[in-house]
Amino acid sequence: MNRFVDKVVIITGAAAGLGLATAQRLAQEGAILVMVDLQDKALETAVATLPAGTRTLCVAADVSKLEDVQAYVAKTMATFGRIDAFFNNAGIEGRQNPTENFGADEFHRVVKVNLDGVFFGLAEVLKVMREQGHGAIVNSASVGGIRGVGNQSGYAASKHGVVGLTRNSAVEYGQYGIQINAIAPGAIITAMVEGSLRQIGGDNWEAVGQEFVSNNPMRRFGRPEEVAALTAFLLSGEANFVNGAVITIDGGQSYKY
Ligand code: NAD
Repeated sequence: MNRFVDKVVIITGAAAGLGLATAQRLAQEGAILVMVDLQDKALETAVATLPAGTRTLCVAADVSKLEDVQAYVAKTMATFGRIDAFFNNAGIEGRQNPTENFGADEFHRVVKVNLDGVFFGLAEVLKVMREQGHGAIVNSASVGGIRGVGNQSGYAASKHGVVGLTRNSAVEYGQYGIQINAIAPGAIITAMVEGSLRQIGGDNWEAVGQEFVSNNPMRRFGRPEEVAALTAFLLSGEANFVNGAVITIDGGQSYKY
């Protein structure tokens, strides 16, 4: 498929996990990519995994800082002159703890990245897309944004917030030809999920992971490329009447009684 030929797409958290898998998928379909991440060295490594000839702009930025978000949008416009699609994806899990021990500092650290970061991205990119009269946005929420998971106060608050931001902005911007949706992945095997399993099981994390997925209707973790395929569809123009949706991708786990 070549759904992204000559389309300019910004991806945050592009150096690893779901962001990188989506960058790889979109590059295979011809996209021009703006790869945004905290880790500039990892961005270089990530770009090396893309098909030869992919046009890219790498921007080191902390999505929780408004000035960094303004800078990645300004650099995109100065280089390519438009933003056709935006994967507003960077996020962190935070340390797991029950609510009373979660800690105000940790709560605010997680919310700053996951919620401020997504809001800043929406606000800055939507200014451009409204002027253009087109654009598609996917925000990374989580099953933790529609269900209680436990031990994740910061993550739960921020991801439920991402769902709210998605619906609110979708209602505002549909009239300008812009679609804004969220994905709600379950456990997809990336560095973030490995870190989470290590918090529970230490060196025994793989066994903890197997135990965890034995409860999933599909008995396995999701794969980053499966999330990339969904995100690509939502950003491709094939999903133009899908707006304000929060789409789970979790093997059916969140529907299980
Ligand atoms: P990951 O840790 O593998 O990759 C996240 C990337 O984001 C990293 O490259 C990291 O450097 C970057 N990043 C972190 N903080 C940043 C910041 N402040 N500014 C810029 N970049 C930053 O994580 P992942 O599993 O790919 O998760 C991506 C998104 O998907 C997150 O929002 C996460 O909450 C969400 N999600 C993931 C899963 C899963 O199972 N993997 C499930 C539900 C939701």
